[in-house]
Amino acid sequence: MIQDLGQHHFQNQYYPEKKPGKEDFFLSFSGKSVLVKRESGKKVDPSDAIMSGDGLSLRCPEGEGFSFYKIKEYLASFPKEKEEVQENALSRKREQQAMVNDWRKSFTYLFSLDGQDYYLLKDIVEFGEYLSLEELRREFKGPKSLLFLANTGMHLFHFYQKHRYCGVCGTKTEKDKKERAMRCPNCQEVFYPKIMPAVIVGIIHKEKILCTRYANRLSYLPALVAGFIEIGETGEEAAIREAMEETGVPIKEVKYYKSQPWGMADDLLLGYFAKVDEEKASFTEMGEVQIIREEEELSEAVWLSREELELQGNDFSLTNEMMRTFKEGKFELHGRRNG
Ligand SMILES: [Zn+2]
Repeated sequence: MIQDLGQHHFQNQYYPEKKPGKEDFFLSFSGKSVLVKRESGKKVDPSDAIMSGDGLSLRCPEGEGFSFYKIKEYLASFPKEKEEVQENALSRKREQQAMVNDWRKSFTYLFSLDGQDYYLLKDIVEFGEYLSLEELRREFKGPKSLLFLANTGMHLFHFYQKHRYCGVCGTKTEKDKKERAMRCPNCQEVFYPKIMPAVIVGIIHKEKILCTRYANRLSYLPALVAGFIEIGETGEEAAIREAMEETGVPIKEVKYYKSQPWGMADDLLLGYFAKVDEEKASFTEMGEVQIIREEEELSEAVWLSREELELQGNDFSLTNEMMRTFKEGKFELHGRRNG
């Protein structure tokens, strides 16, 4: 999955005392896109490649690698004093010069990977390319670890972007001096990064798994029943409710499998496998558990056998990992290994 970094060491602890250096990297976001630098000819370690394939026989595609820019490259992008500047660009140049002189204020410490620090730049730059995470997955062969940083950096970008003012009294917030949080200097309210828990449910019945396709998404990939946990609800209750709402299938023996941070949507995904509750279920003439599809949300909901189930083209998502686990007969349900 995207968070499985192998030999890489990801350190997400917040160090308020860290100061950006010119050799550190920075992430800059514009909407749903991240600033990247093409690295043609740079070798990507196969263990750190963005894989593609059918999920069972993953392979590394042809293509170049990417990286992020260093702070010194950001500083070098400003026009030098001696350069001739057009009259109408003069005020903009002065503005930029002021920023160069006070550049550390534009950066917020994010995390480190293998001891290398990464900062968030609050501005958009005029060099490099801003690409969505989908485009990164499609266009580059790696490194996967940097794709994870883009994903997690985006989560923190959303946090800082959405908490510039106090939601209680409206005062401009400040970075907390100890924790990764924004604090209101007026009423002292503290705001932490928001993580939204959601569930993914692999519903199994007689060697088949219940697969869905979302109606309003570009993705043609099969998915599993999924949705956000409501306030006052456990993960298991959310799984039962979502299964009923999306597909009309009653489930029981909801069993936790694994979780996944999914920063681009501020989510924490909790994966469960579950069994159909046959006593409450309806059956078709063919003897299959009846599906009543939520038509606004899903374009499709079907029972698929191991042979029929098509996996995604990479190994990023918990959904795909759960499908692969089913396809390979390795999932555990009701206390014993199925297969
Ligand atoms: Zn306040």
